Amino acid sequence: MVAGENGSVEDPWRRARALMAGLPDGGLNISHEAADRHVAAGRGDVTALRWLGKDGSRRDISFAELAEQSGRFAGFLTSAGVEPGSVVAVLLGRVPELHVAALGALKAGAVVCPLFAAFGPEPIRERLLRGRARVLVTTPQAYRAKVAALRAELPDLDTVLLVGDGAADLEGALDFRAAIGACAPMPPVSTRPEDPALLHFTSGTTGRPKGALHVHEAAVMHAFTGRGVLGLRKGDVYWCTADPGWVTGTSYGIVAPLALGVTSVVDEGEFDPSRWCAILQDEAVTVWYTAPTAIRLLMRAGAEFARSWRYPALRHLASVGEPLTAEAVEWGRAAFGHPFHDTWWQTETGAIMVANAAGADPVPGSMGRPVEGIEAAVVRRDGDRIMPVRDGDLGELALRAGWPSMFRAYLDDDERYRACFVDGWYLSGDLARRDEQGHFWFVGRADDVIKSSGHLIGPFEVERVLMRHPAVAEAGVIGKPDAVAFEIVKAFVVLRPDCNADEAMRRDILAFARRQLGAAVAPKELAFADALPHTRSGKVLRRLLKANETGAPPGDLSTLEGRGQP
Ligand code: ATP
Ligand code: MG
Repeated sequence: MVAGENGSVEDPWRRARALMAGLPDGGLNISHEAADRHVAAGRGDVTALRWLGKDGSRRDISFAELAEQSGRFAGFLTSAGVEPGSVVAVLLGRVPELHVAALGALKAGAVVCPLFAAFGPEPIRERLLRGRARVLVTTPQAYRAKVAALRAELPDLDTVLLVGDGAADLEGALDFRAAIGACAPMPPVSTRPEDPALLHFTSGTTGRPKGALHVHEAAVMHAFTGRGVLGLRKGDVYWCTADPGWVTGTSYGIVAPLALGVTSVVDEGEFDPSRWCAILQDEAVTVWYTAPTAIRLLMRAGAEFARSWRYPALRHLASVGEPLTAEAVEWGRAAFGHPFHDTWWQTETGAIMVANAAGADPVPGSMGRPVEGIEAAVVRRDGDRIMPVRDGDLGELALRAGWPSMFRAYLDDDERYRACFVDGWYLSGDLARRDEQGHFWFVGRADDVIKSSGHLIGPFEVERVLMRHPAVAEAGVIGKPDAVAFEIVKAFVVLRPDCNADEAMRRDILAFARRQLGAAVAPKELAFADALPHTRSGKVLRRLLKANETGAPPGDLSTLEGRGQP
């Protein structure tokens, strides 16, 4: 097997582990790293969270307050008989109680399972049931609308705590504030690095969401990449816009910045171009971690619009979750004075694995290089072995197993977990190419790959080109079954608002794609759409486009966005 970029590092994680304070008896607990250690080091009064309410209110929460409040919640859980290893689900928006609940549960040795606040009752029921959650922290509104009627179907769920006004009036649930106010703060349980800490359900882009289990040691990688890839350092004002219901919201919304002692902006409001630009300016954000869906929407508003604000403090822009086009990278420069740096990782990897790191110009359109300590390769499966492919060739992105934030199990699915590993390597299910300089280029999901007349075509390679056409706002590409070619490339295109979806436009876009991609790879068919289906975390759901085309069942749709935009 070919060694990856960083294959020769003797103990890559020694330096990473040194970022952790650890507990006196050798234990490791994420809540200690995120809050209590800063108090012990005399930095308790530093602002951990700068919370911006929807209604314009704001509140600073110090590391000391976070340590104290999470200690009280841990005390509550322990007095309620919640044993270490039990699952505490958190269904909250971007409010400080989210951090208190997550860190408090970890402090008590429980496993945190974040849920997306906009989920309807069914995805919530499914996750609570599969996770065997014992405790749920949510709001009175969410409880009344989505959970109360399900209680009888959730035998493991014995405690529900509600954050916000009206909590005291609901039967079968406790007021979060009152409950923790009545408990004394407790110090972190001395969990071991290998003890379970986080249960994250995947986005469900390719099928039924999987429950990926992570351990306390994951924090090593969160902090290591927070520093090495996002460039976080003390004194930064950092803004991670990911929803707390998804893995980025925990790994980089909670753990990495707090462990590094950095101040995070937490905005309760929804996406809004003016609000976001104003936050970047007014809060003097230095490092911003966001996603292509948001960048696309900002691009629609225009670089000139973004330039109506000033960003003298801003130092670094990064993105994750979906492919980031070269145009989007450069647009960052035009709009904010800095390019967006793409980073690649998955729920399963727990932290960033391949990236354009801070401090260097990104390679536009590429995911970058393996993070320090990570050995990555592009491979082909060959039975129970894997073979590297030549630079430039298409293959599956694989990582040598054993990094600290690697998932340790799929919930109730050992077989599927084992099937992800071949020959000591984790196979990601994503297709990529590596160039001669060692940069990785995303091609698509192995499940989405199109087989046409003997060619393997990655949808994103086609989408990337379509989106370069001036009339195209968004594109989704699938393989449509075909008697002769096996599949033909079919594109679904959303046009920019001022463009006409007529025959001339269709022919123009198809010709543009043919010129760039060649006839074998370019779409043969093109349909205009008002919007593309997205998962709730904002990813294009190609399997739904495909199911609509073929009439085949689309599989689990509990994570379907339902709207065209995030
Ligand atoms: P499921 O596994 O349930 O189908 P999912 O893979 O979308 O859902 P996540 O773990 O949230 O769930 O997403 C990880 C995936 O997102 C990656 O495997 C990859 O396909 C895509 N992704 C993440 N970052 C990037 C990136 N920078 N460029 C391209 N794709 C990315
Ligand atoms: Mg996945």
